Amino acid sequence: MQRTLYDEDHDAFRSTARTFLAKEVVPFHDDWEKEGLVDRRIWTAAGAQGLLGTDVPEQYGGGGVKDFRYNAVLTEETIAVGASGVGFSLHNDVTAPYLTELTTDEQKQRWLPGFVTGEIITAIAMTEPGAGSDLQGITTSAKRDGSDLVLTGQKTFITNGIHADLVLVVARTDPDAKAAHGLSLIAVERGMPGFERGRNLDKIGMHAQDTAELFFDDVRVPASNVVGELNQGFIHLMTMLPQERLSIAVAAIAGARTIFDRTLEYVKDRKAFGRPVGSFQHNRFVLAEMATELELAETYLDKAILEHNEGRYTVVDAAMAKWWTTEMQKRVVDRCVQLHGGYGFMREYPVARAYTDTRITTIYGGTTEIMKEIVGRSLGV
Ligand SMILES: Cc1cc2nc3c(=O)[nH]c(=O)nc-3n(C[C@H](O)[C@H](O)[C@H](O)COP(=O)(O)OP(=O)(O)OC[C@H]3O[C@@H](n4cnc5c(N)ncnc54)[C@H](O)[C@@H]3O)c2cc1C
Repeated sequence: MQRTLYDEDHDAFRSTARTFLAKEVVPFHDDWEKEGLVDRRIWTAAGAQGLLGTDVPEQYGGGGVKDFRYNAVLTEETIAVGASGVGFSLHNDVTAPYLTELTTDEQKQRWLPGFVTGEIITAIAMTEPGAGSDLQGITTSAKRDGSDLVLTGQKTFITNGIHADLVLVVARTDPDAKAAHGLSLIAVERGMPGFERGRNLDKIGMHAQDTAELFFDDVRVPASNVVGELNQGFIHLMTMLPQERLSIAVAAIAGARTIFDRTLEYVKDRKAFGRPVGSFQHNRFVLAEMATELELAETYLDKAILEHNEGRYTVVDAAMAKWWTTEMQKRVVDRCVQLHGGYGFMREYPVARAYTDTRITTIYGGTTEIMKEIVGRSLGV
């Protein structure tokens, strides 16, 4: 079925993104995979093309349009070229709403212009060595001292962790509050004494993506760097997580579509027993199942994006989209590896890279199990 989600403005934005990626990212991505992170230069190059902060108000240099379709276009294009190291979606889709919706005017003036130009790369740090799915376990804490908060603790698995100039750190600010309450979002900036980066972590995939440990040793952060309300961090996270999960769903479907399309070409070309391997009935059925799942997923996603634009997209909606699309992607990529035979295990083939690059999608942003918990609880069970 024809996709009707996008109009000519989105198509123009797609063309800009495609040209940018072809020129500034694709020729260098293999080198960045060896180096373990992308060249910082691509952030400012993307900013110059208007690819960062499309929803940031124009007065701060942004696109001034709150329309998640632009975010989706950039993710689709980035995924289509296999640029798994480029952390724009974390910046545009995940941290942007915190910085546009929860900040004071003074904070907006300080951070948003750099956010849009790519001079301020952002990250969000929830996960700790002892607390991932369960935010109640967060031990990073910040104590008030005069006009500062003194932050102590450790985070891990932080996307953009090495490049980030501004990290939204989730810390406990009310030690007496129960469970996940008493958390706050504290913006920690590059160069603050006591803020150190640990290892750029060695992952099975996404080798050009900097995923890092962060350490906070009595970092004095001005209280004016609290984002949103003090002690309301958990509520803020719950409000913003649907967009993060929708973003992962966009990437999952785009990733599955890209690998499926390439595999379809491959199985038409590759011969065994005198015929294309795709023409064996078993493989044709496998292909038919994947084509059907993708069609359904894309149709569902387009509706989800419009619901989100209308402000109706809920935590439960996003949990459903996140777990199903990422599990679908995992299934599709695995089957596409099989259809490639031994070549599917060779990293020179995009399908092999996708196998390791995308295995994380059912885990980060909330695991499949946690998503099902959210959906299940909404059913009253
Ligand atoms: C590449 C990468 C990038 C990441 N980027 C970021 C980032 O930018 N910022 C950030 O804060 N974090 C980030 N993360 C962390 C990620 O969000 C967590 O790894 C994830 O939420 C899972 O937490 P965990 O690793 O502690 O697993 P655990 O919570 O220890 O879970 C282990 C297993 O137990 C299951 N489990 C846990 N609780 C339940 C339950 N109640 N019922 C059933 N099963 C359960 C989980 O589903 C999982 O299968 C990233 C991780 C990776 C690997």
